[in-house]
Amino acid sequence: MFCLKSRVSLCAFVIMFLVASYSLIFGGDKQVKEVTGLFYLDGKPVTITIIDGKIENISRKAVKLNESPLYIAPGFIDNQINGYVEVGFSSAGLTVQGIKKATQVLWQAGVTTYLPTVITSSHERLMENFTILAKALNDPEIAGSVPGFHMEGPYISPVDGFRGAHNKEWIRAPDWDEFQKINQAANYKILQVTVAPEMEGAMDFIRNCVKTSIIVALGHHNGSAEIIKQAIDEGACIATHLGNGCANMIHRHTNPLWPQLADDRLMASIICDGFHLTPEEVQVFYKIKGPDRIILTSDVTKLAGMPPGEYSYDGRDVVLTPDGCIKYPAQNVLAGAASPISKGVGNIMKFTQCSLVDAINMATRNPAKLYGFNDRGEIKPGKRADLILFTVDENVLSVKKTIIAGQVVYAADEQ
Ligand SMILES: [Zn+2]
Repeated sequence: MFCLKSRVSLCAFVIMFLVASYSLIFGGDKQVKEVTGLFYLDGKPVTITIIDGKIENISRKAVKLNESPLYIAPGFIDNQINGYVEVGFSSAGLTVQGIKKATQVLWQAGVTTYLPTVITSSHERLMENFTILAKALNDPEIAGSVPGFHMEGPYISPVDGFRGAHNKEWIRAPDWDEFQKINQAANYKILQVTVAPEMEGAMDFIRNCVKTSIIVALGHHNGSAEIIKQAIDEGACIATHLGNGCANMIHRHTNPLWPQLADDRLMASIICDGFHLTPEEVQVFYKIKGPDRIILTSDVTKLAGMPPGEYSYDGRDVVLTPDGCIKYPAQNVLAGAASPISKGVGNIMKFTQCSLVDAINMATRNPAKLYGFNDRGEIKPGKRADLILFTVDENVLSVKKTIIAGQVVYAADEQ
């Protein structure tokens, strides 16, 4: 039998344990009130208080943490997701249910915000899929994670190598009238368009996009230094997956890489999955652009999130490798990306020796700033409580919990 004093101490101990644990304190509806762990900015203990889905307070008072505490960082923001778990955003038969499934499985990878990306397609397919994507935003769960869309193509280079996997049949010159129809179908939610600046009419198109606050990215192009400069003067502000969407054989002096690297006004998104760029390319891009002007992107295709194995992808046999790469087995060449953005965060630390905070910023704060997502991308009072809890072991991040607007949407131990 406990005496009263012991019972009180026991109660106090239990309460202290609950408060000090990195575990989350739930209400019945998974609403989080408080999260403790190691703050991503400095690796020190922190307690984050959440009220009504927003960060209320960040306390640095010492808290007793579990033996193996988790890091806490903002949820990832991925600006280029072509599909996930066999749902392709450019594919025929896209449904709202498919978009919801992709969104929910992306939460497991710590992605709390993303831009579904529709690539070069026929006019009809672009109209149809953007209409479905816009309709999907009526679902609050999807809308919470999808603030808008990315249209990559069809206004890109038709030249082999530069066009990458985009279907030549549907590549065409920039057409503002067509784009307006597509954006209307998308309920004006196209936030970014990736274009080739050397295409006829591209400068007028870029000017019109910038006037309507659409982010213009340069990608899948072979623009000269003069054309790239002109596009940036017109307001193009980011290079899409720099180093990819480029022919294998290029001139050592006059190629699109140097002018895009040389101009400080241009940010760069990079696929840092360990397959699309060499570690040395990542190092050079990082040294030139710096941690404030690089955005990590996954560029994952619809096979991402699936178990490794053999698949048919757009009518061709491909292999999804256990380390997150899609290859054509006969030629042993890349057929697309399948590694979530968390892998890029770990890899850029490994390749450049940058800090965890810089790596996280490239997948959270930087894209939030570019797209004007003022309510997310950082852990600060007033921001939406989009948080991930994770471990880092030898530059490999493992997401254990994902929170969106204060709600737990994924917990590894509950799977
Ligand atoms: Zn691309």
